[in-house]
Amino acid sequence: MIPYGKQLINQDDIDSVIEVLTSDYLTQGPKVPAFEQAVCEYTGAQYAVAVNSATSALHIACLALGVEKGDYVWTSPITFVASANCALYCGAMIDFVDVDVATGNMCPNMLRTKLEEAKLQGRLPKVLIPVHLCGHSCDMAAIAALSNEYGFKVIEDASHGIGGSYLGNKLGGCHYSDISIFSFHPVKIITSAEGGVATTNSASLASKMALYRSHGVTKNPQIMHRPDEGDWYYEQHELGFNYRMSDLHAALGLSQLNQLDQFVTERNRLSKIYDKQCNDLPLTSVNPLSDSISARHLYMIRLHNVKLRRSIFDMMRSKGIQVHVHYFPVHLQPYYLRLGFKEGDYVNAESFYQQILTLPLYPALVDIDQQKVISELSSCLD
Ligand SMILES: *Cc1c(COP(=O)(O)O)cnc(C)c1O
Repeated sequence: MIPYGKQLINQDDIDSVIEVLTSDYLTQGPKVPAFEQAVCEYTGAQYAVAVNSATSALHIACLALGVEKGDYVWTSPITFVASANCALYCGAMIDFVDVDVATGNMCPNMLRTKLEEAKLQGRLPKVLIPVHLCGHSCDMAAIAALSNEYGFKVIEDASHGIGGSYLGNKLGGCHYSDISIFSFHPVKIITSAEGGVATTNSASLASKMALYRSHGVTKNPQIMHRPDEGDWYYEQHELGFNYRMSDLHAALGLSQLNQLDQFVTERNRLSKIYDKQCNDLPLTSVNPLSDSISARHLYMIRLHNVKLRRSIFDMMRSKGIQVHVHYFPVHLQPYYLRLGFKEGDYVNAESFYQQILTLPLYPALVDIDQQKVISELSSCLD
């Protein structure tokens, strides 16, 4: 079977995890801050807060930005459900901004129109969560300009994006946002098995997120309300969670970070081969913006004949090629229909969804397997 995505683990990764297993700390040891430091150095962000998943990172990012009941959070309908669920965890209301049908990314023009309407209705969002689908950066300059004009905060869901850049800056550096989040699920660019991180350039957002990550509890004498009673003493300041990353996971993430650039290079090389060899087929590839380098989490195509999508999907699967579809629009999920969303709410997202197919892409994809994917796809489209 040729999967659509897969981790690549080397001996260094294995040795790093084993080293932690035989050390004093399985969790709350030195590997988590070391991993956070390495993420900061890589992305250029000043602060990083490592957690047990990107979902947790999205949740504490919303909490740190003060998202609560009565607030609106807007995201893209073409994403994993976690990008929207985080707002609901905080008791806020969720709404979506339609996508550009060529990229599947949030459309800045649609955003502007929706903001103009929301301003008249007094329903402006507190936080916007653009999602870098496939690792292709959204048009962050346009989004940041609107954020200044309308006063909302921005969380970049860069779950697909570590290793990519936009206008010469690494994703996660928060040049156009308040907080960025990455996922280290095995299917993503680098992995810590389960894990995520939130990056920011704000000391206060970083310390709030660190608080929410671990029960809302602090041992920092500088922010304690009462005098320190001794080394056992801690204070709970917020209702937090146990979203901590363990040292085992951090060690794997840290070791994987050493290979990140190679992974991204290989993903781009394989993507170029798809670009070239799919060029004559009746499909259009989903491409990154010209002024960005994509981490290339997913290689996505749009079929010109949407009626063929299901049969191509089934045929490819029957040949052992695990093509996929990213994503069924969030607003059409049964849970979201119960919140009042309905078919026709975001027509570009719904149309994009009908057209798309994700082809296998991962650094360990060997050329003969990729050639098999392309030849099977070509014969399906013949
Ligand atoms: C994978 C993913 C998430 C959630 O990541 P986890 O680490 O599994 O919680 C969130 N948003 C997007 C866009 C994702 O692809």
